[in-house]
Amino acid sequence: MVHLRGTKTASQSASESSVGARALYRVGIVGCLISGFVLLGRIIAALDFWRVLPAAAALIAGVALADLITGVVHWACDSWGSEKTRWLGSNLIYSFREHHHKPKAMLDHDWVDVNGGAAIAAFLGFLGFDYLIVGAGLASAGSGVVIASFFLGLVTTSAIANQLHYWAHTRDVPRVVAFLQRRELILSRTQHAGHHRAPHMRGYCISTGWLNRPLDAIGFWRALEVGVGRLTGTHPRKDQEAHRVAP
Ligand SMILES: [Zn+2]
Ligand SMILES: [Zn+2]
Repeated sequence: MVHLRGTKTASQSASESSVGARALYRVGIVGCLISGFVLLGRIIAALDFWRVLPAAAALIAGVALADLITGVVHWACDSWGSEKTRWLGSNLIYSFREHHHKPKAMLDHDWVDVNGGAAIAAFLGFLGFDYLIVGAGLASAGSGVVIASFFLGLVTTSAIANQLHYWAHTRDVPRVVAFLQRRELILSRTQHAGHHRAPHMRGYCISTGWLNRPLDAIGFWRALEVGVGRLTGTHPRKDQEAHRVAP
């Protein structure tokens, strides 16, 4: 699952993660890269003419779903619970909310710190997929190639979501990244800046950002809040309202 790393203060350094954690991150990054390319190779080897278009469409759908997942997690953490919520509050919810106040703090982290956690999760995902689907021979049969393409798009985008978000906060990006941002093929600085303007209630998707415009336009997040509010009997940003009215 995507975990936005914007939690650390500017005075903390990129070397904050322990040596052991960074070693694990490196293993995750290398393992994720290798297993991702292995799956890509398997897909290419199994593709025939009639499956090229469905596989490409499935890959794009996987990328879009990853963008939606980043949006839902981000929206949930911005809108519900508090930093005191059990299990998720002190780490996940805190990290998203702190990022509104200190958006540049994430730039204090190097790429190993930014990408390590997501890479480990993606590596495990690729291994699980390999065991369940490829091991059963499904990836080279019928719709298996399409499913594998969807999975590749989903997991790869999830793995690099933190990096895409990081790049949306800095002008210091490789040329190809700047090109992709200008075309809005990945999250652009301009688009993400919309979320960073208070009250931070739009533009929740933080990987490619493909879904931000359509979801904001149809009022998706507010409708979701109405639904969750009816189910739970509470309303969004409750603790933040309490902070605002406090003397
Ligand atoms: Zn936010
Ligand atoms: Zn941000």
